Formats: sequence, C-alpha cells, structure tokens
Amino acid sequence: MTNKEFVVFGLGRFGKSVATTLADSGCEVLVVDDNEDKIQEMADIVTYAVKANVTDVDTMETLGISNFDGAIVAIGENLEASVMVTILAKELGIPYVLAKAQNDLHAKILKKVGADMVVFPEKETGIRIANKLLLGNFFDA
Ligand code: ATP
Repeated sequence: MTNKEFVVFGLGRFGKSVATTLADSGCEVLVVDDNEDKIQEMADIVTYAVKANVTDVDTMETLGISNFDGAIVAIGENLEASVMVTILAKELGIPYVLAKAQNDLHAKILKKVGADMVVFPEKETGIRIANKLLLGNFFDA
C-alpha cells in the first residue's frame, strides 16, 4: 500500500502541527510557506519543504500536487492567500481540501470556492478542552 500524500500550505502553529503529525504517521508531506525560516524548521521533518508564495499561480502549478490525496490550507490571517490556494488546490484536482477559517464569513467563502471541510482550530480545541474538564469532575474533588 502506498503512503498517502498531503500538501500543507502555511506553517503557523496549526499547519506545523498537522504537517508534523501526518509525517510522523508515515505520510508523504509537502509543506509550502513563503517564510524561509519556517521552511528550514520543517525541512528535516517532512518529505519536501518548498518556499513559495501560494498566490503565485505559475509556481503552484509546478509543485506537482495534482495526484495528492489531500491539501490543508493552514493560512488564516491572509484571506486572499487562503481563498486563492483553496481554489487552486481544487482546480489542480486534489480530491479533499481542508481549510482553516478565522471567522464565519471566511468559512462561508472557503466553502463557496470549494473547500471540502472548514475548521476553526482554536474554537474547536476550546470546546474539546472544556468538555474534557467537565468530564474530569475536577470541581467535585
Ligand atoms: P496559527 O494560528 O496556526 O499560528 P496564523 O493564522 O496565526 O496561524 P497565519 O498568519 O495565517 O498564521 O500564517 C500562517 C502561515 O502562512 C505563516 O507561516 C505565513 O508565512 C504563511 N503565509 C501567509 N501568506 C502566505 C502566502 N501568500 N504564501 C505562502 N505562505 C503564506
């Protein structure tokens, strides 16, 4: 069985964490960020680390990601880059594109341009941790 191939766009805390976990689990992982230091930091952890601006269509087309199994759009602050790379990833033929949203409007836009899944990492982690605290009965001790 061949390993699954993923591309992660953006190496903030969320992108780095997703890319590292996928690579540790044996997946082929390509990371793309326009920040040289972030690319260097991940170079020994993932399969390929490429410094590029994701809004540059020509560069994106040369990445060879059409046959990848999934893309993770982990760019939150830069709305234009987040939307553009989501559209490009779908147009290039990636079957599953998961994108991180900053707010509800951002999420709506990402869905409209083709994201298969939209996540709110901070909000979702907050809910999960609060539920864990409640299940732990910390306050009954
Ligand atoms: P987190 O909360 O996960 O730490 P964040 O939302 O604070 O992330 P962002 O500002 O969204 O972080 O940036 C995530 C990464 O995306 C950064 O490492 C940044 O260099 C990268 N990035 C932003 N715009 C582009 C772009 N046009 N091309 C490539 N990388 C980009």
